[in-house]
Amino acid sequence: MPMIAPKNEQELAVLVIIIGASVALQALAAWVALSQMGNVIGRYRMAWACVALALALMVQRRLAPLWRLITSGETSNLADAIFGLAISLLMVIGLYGLRAVFTDLRSQANTDALTGLTNRRSVIQQAQHEIDRAARTQHPLAFLMFDIDHFKTVNDTYGHPAGDAVLCAVADTARATFRHIDSVGRIGGEEFLAVLPDSNRENATAAAERFRRAIAAREFTFGDHRMGITMSIGLVIPDLSKNSVTFENVMQSADQALYAAKNGGRNRVVVMAPSVNP
Ligand code: GH3
Ligand code: MG
Ligand code: MG
Repeated sequence: MPMIAPKNEQELAVLVIIIGASVALQALAAWVALSQMGNVIGRYRMAWACVALALALMVQRRLAPLWRLITSGETSNLADAIFGLAISLLMVIGLYGLRAVFTDLRSQANTDALTGLTNRRSVIQQAQHEIDRAARTQHPLAFLMFDIDHFKTVNDTYGHPAGDAVLCAVADTARATFRHIDSVGRIGGEEFLAVLPDSNRENATAAAERFRRAIAAREFTFGDHRMGITMSIGLVIPDLSKNSVTFENVMQSADQALYAAKNGGRNRVVVMAPSVNP
């Protein structure tokens, strides 16, 4: 590449701005790639590490002509500098686009398509994470498993799309009733799990009752049809002083509590015993 020396200070300033801008853009591209690394799971980490490393090396390559221009007043030609700037700009736009794609995909992978709630996989992950955290901090933690009563009748009477609309409305009620820090996920057809951090037996029972009442009081509509439903809720507050608390045994207890709520006549909250009031 033939070296040129800027003829005057203006030309030098233009070159410094062009090459400087492309260095800054490539640094930005490297940052976008690096900032994704922590969020991208497992096997994709290596791909992002390679992209980030390549970008870091390109930043370093762009820095060299800038350094040469500043120290010796020489650089490769203007067209080359502009070309470098264009490539850097495209790279930044492309990486920002890719980042949006990754963010979308990640959110889709964690979301239940019908209700927009957290899906089964993701709520299980959050439950496991909260169990670990609560075991460490010894803060109370509560789990609610809830299931719509006689939901099959809704489908049989009004049709499957009406059932779907009810599921969405239940999700809306859950979003409106539980706190921002609670995770509510759909774990099966008409079965849900709510993870309530920092909730003892008293708070969690109050939250469960509030939700049960909100569902029972709500009028669900589908076209011209109006219907009411009820919810059975199993509540578990694991004894975190025991090391043996696992997601599996919490789910087992929640299942038993839910079963007891169904057997007890439905539209009720059953707290799993023995549970500890922290
Ligand atoms: P219970 O009070 O004992 O819970 O009775 P139930 O009728 O709610 O329970 P059952 O297990 O007999 O029926 C659940 C029904 O939920 C059957 C199934 O067709 C329906 N279902 C599961 N997933 C969906 C869905 O995504 N959409 C709709 N509309 N229905 C669903
Ligand atoms: Mg049901
Ligand atoms: Mg069910």
